[in-house]
Parts: sequence; C-alpha cells; structure tokens
Amino acid sequence: SDVLLEVEDLHVSFKTHGGVVQAVRGVSFQLNKGETLAIVGESGCGKSVTARSIMRLLPERTSKIPRGSIRFKGKELTQLTEKQLRELRGSEISMIFQDAMTALNPTISIGEQIMEGIIRHQKISREKARKQAIEMLGLVGISQPELRMKQYLHEFSGGMRQRMMIAIAAVCSPSILIADEPTTALDVTIQAQIIELFRMLQKKTGVSIIIITHDLGVVAKIADRVNVMYAGKVVETGTVQELFYSPQHPYTKGLLASVPRLDTDTTLPLTPIPGTPPDLFSPPKGCAFAARCEYAMDVCGAYDPEPTPLSDKHAVACWLQDPRARQAI
Ligand code: SF4
Ligand code: MG
Repeated sequence: SDVLLEVEDLHVSFKTHGGVVQAVRGVSFQLNKGETLAIVGESGCGKSVTARSIMRLLPERTSKIPRGSIRFKGKELTQLTEKQLRELRGSEISMIFQDAMTALNPTISIGEQIMEGIIRHQKISREKARKQAIEMLGLVGISQPELRMKQYLHEFSGGMRQRMMIAIAAVCSPSILIADEPTTALDVTIQAQIIELFRMLQKKTGVSIIIITHDLGVVAKIADRVNVMYAGKVVETGTVQELFYSPQHPYTKGLLASVPRLDTDTTLPLTPIPGTPPDLFSPPKGCAFAARCEYAMDVCGAYDPEPTPLSDKHAVACWLQDPRARQAI
C-alpha cells in the first residue's frame, strides 16, 4: 500500500514538577508516500510532541508513551532500542528544526556535518561522501558548494542555514522529512524560497513531509492534507481544500479567521479566538474546546467527541457533526 507511517492512538505524557502533563491524548493519522501532511495548532497543542515522538526525540527521563503505536514500513517504532533509533534517524526519517544554530553544531564545518551522516549510514569513503555532500549543497541552492563546505554556521544567513539543515536532513534520502516550524524565524521572502525548496525536493525524491506549523499560509502553499490539533488531540483532518473551504470544527474556523490577509502586515499578533487552551495536567472531561466554543451544548461538557467521517479524508471531532449527539445526552 501507499501508507508509509501509521500513528494510532498515540499518547505522550511528561513528568513535571507540577505533575503529569498529558501532552498528546490519542492521536491517530497516516502518512502516505510522497505526500505532505501539515500539523497545525496553537503552541502547546501537542503538534511538536507528536512529531518528535515519531523519532523518539523526547526527553528520555521525563517523557513517556503510555499508549499507542507508531508503525513505519511495518516496524513498530515505539519498541525500537536506542541503537535501532539511531540507525533510523537521518537515514529513514529526518528532522528539520526552526533554529539551525541550536540544532546543528556551530563548531564543526558544514561539510563535516553533512558528511558525518553519509558516512554513518552508508559506510562509504570520505572522498565519496564529500562528493555527495557537495552535490547535496548544490541541490539545496547553495552556490559554490565546494567553498561552502569549509565554512561554519555563523558565516551564513538565516535562510542559508535552513538550506544547510535541509541538506543534512535529506542527504541520505530518507523516506520522511519532519519539519518543525522550519520557516517561522524567516522573513516572508526567504520563507517562500524554503517552501519552494521542500517542494522541489519532494518532486525530485518522492520524500514524504510532515510539517508542523502555526502558519496557515505555509500550509496552503505546501500541504496536501492537514491535521488540526487542539489540547493534545486531532480535532479535524482533511485535504487542504476541505479544511480551507469547508472547515467544520469551530476551532478550525477560528484559526482560519485569524489568517492575515495578504495585503496586511503579517507580523501582527494573531489572537482571534478568545480564551486559552485547557490545562493538560487535568484535561476537561468533555470537549477540550468547550470553554472557548460559542456553539457548546450540554453534551459537549459531558462527553469527548469522537471523529466523525465527512468524506474520504475529511473527519471532525465535534458534536455538531455527530449524529449521535442527540442520543448521547
Ligand atoms: Fe464546540 Fe461542542 Fe464541537 Fe466542542 S464538541 S467544538 S464544544 S460544539
Ligand atoms: Mg513547537
């Protein structure tokens, strides 16, 4: 089949001084070959945690996956040892972060950092790895890649650093690239170039992409499908067309209402939905959005809505769309 990754009923929790935070509370989705899935939502909704748990890039001592499964090419990732995970990271699934300065090593030349992954995963000579690294830098749009190999992160602009990080992530031809807010720190022009680079890479290599963002403009430009997350759950999922043109969850509608118009200043703070997300130390009993929802009914506070399918790819977890709402209370 075309399904590359299958996440099912994923739960992730963190131990903190204040108690246990249930950051991800039953997330399920699939990723197909060659597609781009966006995960959107406000900060703290669990989108980054969901993505990081795929590669188990979570703090080892304080995080836990108490329930759920993550299957990649038939392998259960939640059961892998640290050694197996290390083999997987970079070669099969790679991660791209918002800030290259903290994600990469500023004291090692760019060339060495790209070559390191190639040598580790492909066990080839330094000379061959060097060639491959130079090629990759060219592919991500770095001019004079041979010269650039010797340089360090601080010698590059923000946009160039993102290109470097993408080069490092993509050099071993992984099946999945996971990008966590990859364009958030960049200005609009550079942002567009980086999105173009992702699209080019995907076209060229067929890589599947999971992009985590709070920016629906980015989603519109790059994604095929979208998961909207709220308080640790996927509240709506669908194709970009379905979500932008016929959003069904009140939260999705609120997010879309917050998208700045193209002719206005995009740096304006976007705070359109009144209220704040619930405390995930003790999540509410019913719908987590109820306290902020203008449509909330009795049933919403009593029972958590399950996803109701609306089409092949479109589903929404909201009692407004669930035919069982009338019997539920
Ligand atoms: Fe609003 Fe109820 Fe739907 Fe939750 S389930 S989003 S409270 S209408
Ligand atoms: Mg985040």
